[in-house]
Amino acid sequence: MIYRSTNNKSEKVDFREATITGLAPDKGLFFPEQIPVLSVDFLKDLKSKSKAQLAYEIVAPYVGSSIPKEYLFKICEETVDFDFPLVKIKENIYSLELFHGPTLAFKDVGARFLSRCLGYFSKNSDKKTTVLVATSGDTGSAVANSFLGVEGVEVVILYPSGKVSLIQELQLTTLGNNITALEVEGDFDDCQRMVKEAFANKELNDHLNLTSANSINIARWLSQQFYYFFALQQWPHEKPPVISVPSGNFGNICAGLIAHKSGLPVTHFIAACNSNDAFYKYLQNGDYKTKASVPTISNAMDVGNPSNFVRVLELFDNDFKQIQNKISSFRISDEITKKTISEVYENHNYLLDPHGAVAYTALDIYLKENPTEKGIILETAHPLKFNNVVEPIIGEEIEIPLNVKTLLEKTKNSILISPTFQCLSNELLKWV
Ligand SMILES: *Cc1c(COP(=O)(O)O)cnc(C)c1O
Repeated sequence: MIYRSTNNKSEKVDFREATITGLAPDKGLFFPEQIPVLSVDFLKDLKSKSKAQLAYEIVAPYVGSSIPKEYLFKICEETVDFDFPLVKIKENIYSLELFHGPTLAFKDVGARFLSRCLGYFSKNSDKKTTVLVATSGDTGSAVANSFLGVEGVEVVILYPSGKVSLIQELQLTTLGNNITALEVEGDFDDCQRMVKEAFANKELNDHLNLTSANSINIARWLSQQFYYFFALQQWPHEKPPVISVPSGNFGNICAGLIAHKSGLPVTHFIAACNSNDAFYKYLQNGDYKTKASVPTISNAMDVGNPSNFVRVLELFDNDFKQIQNKISSFRISDEITKKTISEVYENHNYLLDPHGAVAYTALDIYLKENPTEKGIILETAHPLKFNNVVEPIIGEEIEIPLNVKTLLEKTKNSILISPTFQCLSNELLKWV
C-alpha cells in the first residue's frame, strides 16, 4: 500500500515509512492511495472468524510487504487479546464496550498495534525512535502502557496539568523505564501545538527520530477499524446499525468511516460531541472554524481543532453533501450528559462514562427522529476512569478492580514545563 500526504506536497511512502514518520513532511496526514474493497465472501464469513483472523485480514492490505505475514498475525493476536462485548442497554441501543483493555479505554487497541509495529521496525535499525505524543488523558495512558519496555523506542508524553483524571495521570506518570511524562502548564491544544512544532523542527527530528502516537499515525488510525467489525459480528439485527462515536480528534470515527468505505455495512454515523463543536457547526453550513478548546466532563473530547478533520474530507472527496448524508452530529452539554448517566443507570441499570453518555444522548435523539433504526454507541472508557464525575451522579462508589488498586498506591513522576515549544525542545535535547 502506498500513502500520500493530504497536502500532496510530500513524497509517497509505504506503510513502514508512514508509521515511522507519523506526520508527513509537508505537515499533511498520510492517507492510503486506494481503499481496499472487502470481498462478498469476507462479509459473508464475518461472524465465524476469530478476532485475530479478522483483524489480520482487515489490516494486511494496508501493511503490504512492510511486515512479514506471520509476524503481522502475531501483532494482531496481541492487539485484540481482550473482550469487546456488545451489550444491550435498551430496545434500540447497544453498547460496544471498548474498555476491557489494560488502561480501560479504547485507545489500547490502536496503541498496542502501533507499539508492536514500531518495535518491529526498530529491530532492524540502530537508530532510536522517539514517540512524542500529546494527550488529553487516555492516549497517554494507552501509549505508555503499550510501549513500556519496547526496545529502541523512547516515549515522551505531554499532558495538560490538572486537566486529566487521577487514574489517567497515574497511568501515564508511574511507569518509568522508557516512558517520560511532561506535565504542561496549559491545555490540550497547547500540548498538541507543541508536538506539531517539534515535528516541524528539523534539528529535533534529526537528533531524535521523532514519531507520533496520536491518531494522526496511520498504524493507530487504521487498526481502530477492528472493533467496528467486532460490533457487526455481534449485531443481532438484519438492518445495519447506526453507530454513534464520541468524538474529539475524530480518529475513532474516521476508522469507522474507512471501514464502511471498504464495505462494512453501517446505516449512518453520528459524531457525538461535547461543547467543543467545530464539526457540529461545520455540518450546519460547510463552514469549518476551529476554536480554543473548552473544558468539559468528557475531557478526552475537549478538542478545538480535530486533527483528523482533513481525513473526513478525503474520505468523501471533499463533497459536503455526501458528508451530510452519512454523518450527523450532536452537541451535548455537561448538564445533559450528567442527566443521561443518571437516567440510564436508573432505568436500564447500565453505568455509562461521560464519553459514552455523550454518544448515548446523541444516538437517542437521532433514533427519536428515525424510529425505524437501531444503533450502537462506542463506550470508549470504563466509568471508573471518571469516578470523580460519575460517583456523585449515581450516589454510589464504583468498585475498583485490582490492577487499579495497585496503581493508586504508586507515586506520580512528571516534569512540569511551560506551554512553549522552547521548553519542550530544551527537555528533549537534554537526552541527546
Ligand atoms: C480519545 C477518546 C475519545 C475521542 O476519540 P477521537 O479518536 O479523538 O475522536 C473519546 N472517548 C474517550 C474515552 C477517549 O479516550
